[in-house]
Amino acid sequence: MLGSKKKYIVNGNSGIKAQIQFADQKQEFNKRPTKIGRRSLSRSISQSSTDSYSSAASYTDSSDDETSPRDKQQKNSKGSSDFCVKNIKQAEFGRREIEIAEQEMPALMALRKRAQGEKPLAGAKIVGCTHITAQTAVLMETLGALGAQCRWAACNIYSTLNEVAAALAESGFPVFAWKGESEDDFWWCIDRCVNVEGWQPNMILDDGGDLTHWIYKKYPNMFKKIKGIVEESVTGVHRLYQLSKAGKLCVPAMNVNDSVTKQKFDNLYCCRESILDGLKRTTDMMFGGKQVVVCGYGEVGKGCCAALKAMGSIVYVTEIDPICALQACMDGFRLVKLNEVIRQVDIVITCTGNKNVVTREHLDRMKNSCIVCNMGHSNTEIDVASLRTPELTWERVRSQVDHVIWPDGKRIVLLAEGRLLNLSCSTVPTFVLSITATTQALALIELYNAPEGRYKQDVYLLPKKMDEYVASLHLPTFDAHLTELTDEQAKYLGLNKNGPFKPNYYRCLGLPRNQGHLGSDELPALELVFASPTTYAYMNSEK
Ligand code: NAD
Repeated sequence: MLGSKKKYIVNGNSGIKAQIQFADQKQEFNKRPTKIGRRSLSRSISQSSTDSYSSAASYTDSSDDETSPRDKQQKNSKGSSDFCVKNIKQAEFGRREIEIAEQEMPALMALRKRAQGEKPLAGAKIVGCTHITAQTAVLMETLGALGAQCRWAACNIYSTLNEVAAALAESGFPVFAWKGESEDDFWWCIDRCVNVEGWQPNMILDDGGDLTHWIYKKYPNMFKKIKGIVEESVTGVHRLYQLSKAGKLCVPAMNVNDSVTKQKFDNLYCCRESILDGLKRTTDMMFGGKQVVVCGYGEVGKGCCAALKAMGSIVYVTEIDPICALQACMDGFRLVKLNEVIRQVDIVITCTGNKNVVTREHLDRMKNSCIVCNMGHSNTEIDVASLRTPELTWERVRSQVDHVIWPDGKRIVLLAEGRLLNLSCSTVPTFVLSITATTQALALIELYNAPEGRYKQDVYLLPKKMDEYVASLHLPTFDAHLTELTDEQAKYLGLNKNGPFKPNYYRCLGLPRNQGHLGSDELPALELVFASPTTYAYMNSEK
């Protein structure tokens, strides 16, 4: 999930095969990973698990010793050693980070309050593989408060906040993660979460699909007890659909990535907030009056355009889809082809989910000091490889900032080497992560409590009512007052007064990539709109 914290990479089929094969082949773990081993990254783990990610400040890294956590004997204050983190002594600092995150995660805190009586996850044994950040910690502690036992590994070798992992270990969560894991460490940590005597998971919470595939290949029998998989990322969801298509998915899976509460908030509002942060931190630039071209006017593009327009930038948009193009026009942006403005713009931002949107030809034609960055798909949107030619000089001027210099002295400013600007160079708002984390928690509750047969071995979207519920839990933060339908109005619109207020297909508006991912055809769409009885009762329980 978090900070996602996030996976924005759709692997091709071959990438997925490579990952599955790796899990197959890998039997032994190195006892002592070498320094080189720790740094070497394999293609075998998902690309998103190695994307650089620096969305939160880390208290520790510089002062830490070089000893691998796997070689350390550590215990928490209660004497447990069922964890592996960088340094358990950092727990207090991690606890502060978690407390700060709690302030911005009102819905998870509300779920905890509701769980005073019957606990909807009592008996759940959740194995998780997500970014280990303060926001994840709030989610894990919420799952604990709802009755679940959890074991956790990191889904990204760089993103773990060591002090947060320490705080979780100190409060009794078996966490196996640290910043800068090697590939071998990565799988070892996942294995330590799964391969435990006397403990078998019955739920999976995954971000990227690596955990799911590890269990598939190493411990397929575990699926007999597993009630479901909740997956957050584009990558992981794609892998699940592949399994489903091949008839190999053996439990129900919930696709959180395509929940309307994730798409609308994560893609649109998160990017609206973080584009300026990423640009400012890396370049100190002023936005007013600058000419910017944003490629792609989907959710991410809309967020970027809105933020830059509000700062007084002159914003151009490129699009291939006439509907999104028309939206850009109606929102007051000039729709152009990239070639038409490439010589004059000060900033180029890609948000298409596509590849080679900015080519070497475009880069050659840019003016001196043009800033080039990507907010869309991994590192494919800008053809960065084409800049690695002998006549161009690369100068690293700051962390994540390269000047690429042409023989005539012209230079462009390339941010994060074309990887996601906000994940590499800025923070991601906790409130947005709260929405995704709450959706994950509800997906777990729903799959865990669903009556036998409600969900088949397929990939589902969260019932509509639950998307609405996640949103409603966040409204009190704004002292927002929701209007209630009168009986007459409800009848007129043919709606239940308590929702769902929109049909299921409504979530697909503006999400052309995911149309068709509506879950099993065998289950009537209307039924998917509602939650299972237990979940429903929990949602409606007294605060
Ligand atoms: P989207 O499908 O809503 O929007 C992408 C838009 O780009 C579409 O309208 C499409 O028509 C357009 N497009 C495709 N190829 C193009 C081209 N060659 N030139 C111009 N326009 C083109 O998707 P989205 O939700 O906006 O997400 C876009 C990408 O950003 C995805 O890869 C997604 O995974 C990623 N993402 C990033 C973040 C982040 O924090 N940086 C957050 C969410 C999603």
